[in-house]
Amino acid sequence: MNPRWAKALESALGKERVAVDPASRLLYARDMMSGGLLEEKARHEPHLPQAVCRPASVSHIRGILAVARRHGVPVVPFGAGSGVSGGTNPVRGGIMLDLKSFTRLGPIEERGGRFYVTAESGILGQHLERDLNARGFTLGHFPSSILCATVGGYLACRSAGQLSSKYGKIEDMTDAVEVVLASGEVVPFGGRLKKFPGLRPEDVFIGSEGCLGVFTRARFRVFPLPPATLYRGLSFRRVEDALTAVRQIMQSGLRPAVVRLYDPVDSLLLKHGYKKKNRSRSRSKTGGRADWHYPLLLSRPSLVQKLVERASSEALLILGFEGDAELAREMERQALRHAATLRAKDLGPEPGQHWHDHRYSVSFKMPRLFANGCYVDTIETATTWDNLQALYDGMREALMRRVLVLAHFSHAYPEGCSIYFTVVGKCRGPEEDLKTYGEIWHDAMEVCLGLGATISHHHGIGLLKAKFLPRELGGAMPLFRDIKKGLDPWNILNPGKMGLGS
Ligand SMILES: Cc1cc2nc3c(=O)[nH]c(=O)nc-3n(C[C@H](O)[C@H](O)[C@H](O)COP(=O)(O)OP(=O)(O)OC[C@H]3O[C@@H](n4cnc5c(N)ncnc54)[C@H](O)[C@@H]3O)c2cc1C
Repeated sequence: MNPRWAKALESALGKERVAVDPASRLLYARDMMSGGLLEEKARHEPHLPQAVCRPASVSHIRGILAVARRHGVPVVPFGAGSGVSGGTNPVRGGIMLDLKSFTRLGPIEERGGRFYVTAESGILGQHLERDLNARGFTLGHFPSSILCATVGGYLACRSAGQLSSKYGKIEDMTDAVEVVLASGEVVPFGGRLKKFPGLRPEDVFIGSEGCLGVFTRARFRVFPLPPATLYRGLSFRRVEDALTAVRQIMQSGLRPAVVRLYDPVDSLLLKHGYKKKNRSRSRSKTGGRADWHYPLLLSRPSLVQKLVERASSEALLILGFEGDAELAREMERQALRHAATLRAKDLGPEPGQHWHDHRYSVSFKMPRLFANGCYVDTIETATTWDNLQALYDGMREALMRRVLVLAHFSHAYPEGCSIYFTVVGKCRGPEEDLKTYGEIWHDAMEVCLGLGATISHHHGIGLLKAKFLPRELGGAMPLFRDIKKGLDPWNILNPGKMGLGS
């Protein structure tokens, strides 16, 4: 049955921009959170929105919010649904606010020798980068989900791209944001919040996951395309040595664009990938036959883990340098010098080139594992260098009992580094898998919080980590709640997320 407020939406936007049919509502029920796939396998009913709206202008968004305020209906801002924390799941029903009609890109502007561009929030990352490249520029933001994530989603989740060691995370590239508040008020570029005039809107809204306002556009700093890019693969006998090398490189003032250190199990998979590169007739073309053995191996994950790690403790490091050709060569030379003091073996450019050629494909293999009797998820955390080894060891110890654990250290900075764990388990039955999945996340979050590491470097909080956020924020959580109350007293924007209650 159509909600009673559907007519009001149709008159605010036009009938063609409002969908209430069952198929549209089902399409928006879940994002890419692995737990959602497990729920689907267990045939748990998803939460459905009652309507899907596709506004094409700021006044359309204001019209939707006016209906929502009047009728007390939740509104969930929606980019492309590539989130992996349940951030768009409409747990209280309501209206999905799909922003994909917001696709305009402004001209490149120069200010004080720096370059900027204004992009609307519904542009897909890949389209933005393609259009910037055509003008000789790059945003420098390359998340693995670039093909299926929007600018608004980047901002809302504090996204990080594969070149974050050089360009930073999305918040580092953002010069200004335009946001529509729950009240319908528009905060323009350079504007201030009436309720919180001392706070910079960028600091308030970036990372707020649709709970405080709707991004309509942002101004980003962009960079001329680098004339040269060099890649290098290095092999270390132990993860510890490789981590020391990465820390030294980052703290020496060098700025590699790509830093990815794979632990022994992850290195094995990566090496397997680039060694078989030239073998023709890739098996993936045959529908993923190559994955049949995973459930077998994963019957005893800790045994498999021990055997693999006993066979090789090698850790593979991919470095990438870009910019002026001479500068890139010099940075590479100095980085290799640091690595040599830790007995690294230089593997030449091939492993790095292979990584570059496949840099978006790995994540998209996950559904194949689901189809082959396994489940898989990724847990991204970060901490300072002095705490990094403890975090790596602690997470492995907590998780390896139940699942195979792979890790890579990417997003390295002078202060610390992120660790990206991939966990793979064998399906044993839908309800049991859901229970194990919950335990894995619980244990992982406890380790992060216990060690003072962050529970999210770039995937956001959403539903998945909502109950853990108050512990991470500590004394800042009441401030976050006050900001929510001040900006959205109706509690219509994405309720039930980020530990802000229902
Ligand atoms: C295969 C794969 C690989 C991934 N790799 C990366 C990676 O390398 N780096 C990374 O950072 N993330 C990665 N992610 C996670 C995901 O792509 C990011 O979180 C992305 O930023 C989400 O963008 P989206 O447009 O799909 O947002 P959605 O999933 O639609 O929404 C995510 C959150 O943002 C809010 N939101 C969306 N648009 C707006 C808006 N205009 N205004 C206000 N709030 C809004 C939503 O309400 C929700 O809370 C990956 C995901 C997948 C599936």
